[in-house]
Amino acid sequence: MAQLLFKDVNKVYPNGYHAVHDFNMEIKHGEFICLVGDSGCGKSTTLRMIAGLEDITAGEFYIDGKLANQMSSRDRGIAMVFQSYALYPHLTVAENLGFGLTLEGIDADVIDERVAATAKILGLTDYLERFPRQLSGGQCQRVAVGRALIRKVSIFLMDEPLSNLDAKQRVTMRSEIKQIHRSVGATTIYVTHDQTEAMTMSDRIVVMRSGGYVQQIGTPYELYFYPKNLFVAGFIGEPPMNFIRGTVENGHFKTETLDLDIKPIVKDANAIEGKKVVFAFRPEAVEVYGVEKKGAAKPAAKTEGYVISSNVDLTELLGDTTNVYANVGNVNVILKINPHHTPEMGSEFKFVIPHKAAYLFDAETEEVIESGLERH
Ligand code: ADP
Repeated sequence: MAQLLFKDVNKVYPNGYHAVHDFNMEIKHGEFICLVGDSGCGKSTTLRMIAGLEDITAGEFYIDGKLANQMSSRDRGIAMVFQSYALYPHLTVAENLGFGLTLEGIDADVIDERVAATAKILGLTDYLERFPRQLSGGQCQRVAVGRALIRKVSIFLMDEPLSNLDAKQRVTMRSEIKQIHRSVGATTIYVTHDQTEAMTMSDRIVVMRSGGYVQQIGTPYELYFYPKNLFVAGFIGEPPMNFIRGTVENGHFKTETLDLDIKPIVKDANAIEGKKVVFAFRPEAVEVYGVEKKGAAKPAAKTEGYVISSNVDLTELLGDTTNVYANVGNVNVILKINPHHTPEMGSEFKFVIPHKAAYLFDAETEEVIESGLERH
């Protein structure tokens, strides 16, 4: 386990491209941290600076309180797992696992012991004599994780390690990596562009945006329910949060077709009078109103909130929920609703956005003004 500290860490590549801006963070012993964001936002660059594979242009980076900017990769106590697992095709699983230790000149007996112990953790004991071509993608990835694990380092760095696997294998490996982390306890920094991976695996998530800017650092719960800005709100959650642009007039959120009293969700409506804002809510936060199976009337929703009239463009039954693509005025929204109370395609219906599920963002700065959750 190790503790990492970043103070205003920046990366400018030799061609002048500023890939990471003022990265500040303290990572605690044994934490599982995901760096998440779209392709090119500086995640791998950050990871490579931690590994010592890229110089830090400005700022300070500490490992366990020791300034590590100039520390060699070897001395950092780091093992890395990459997207392409690059196993040696002519070596068996056991030999692939032990290869790094052999290079370090460790005794064969010790290597055998550690290979056996690592294989046990990863469920590879029955595959030790196989060659990589005789393994599934998931098993290969497990060997790659094993090669890092066997080195007993205090920091694990993983760069999109699951992106070559199919969807089902990804889900399995996700929980396996999490379990390994729980049993080994190494501080882990995991890069992914997949927000579901980040949400399910992390103690905390760092959301980055193109240009190398950190947008928010927080637990999955904090990011989901208390996003600091429109970028994070739109990035975390699938389908994404719905955004409706309008203006605050006389304490009401107004668009051409909507007029919603914002006093139930903001502390001080006067402070934002006249502002251009974005009203937002998550697809699953709504309650549909007056739709019953086969058109029978369902009692009106009891939740206090905004009642919105809408038209259904399209419905997608997923089984556990139905995605309803609807329009509010001329804005498209997605609602995730109970499949037994799905309005018919083309029909008009009403839904309620509970006050506690409504958010307001400043349309210019993109920062959150208020989330209804804080007031309900
Ligand atoms: P991510 O991992 O988030 O996809 P990267 O950290 O790989 O992003 O890259 C961040 C940005 O830095 C990208 O715009 C990329 O093109 C640029 N970049 C990466 N490596 C270099 C390099 N060696 N020289 C110049 N620019 C680079």
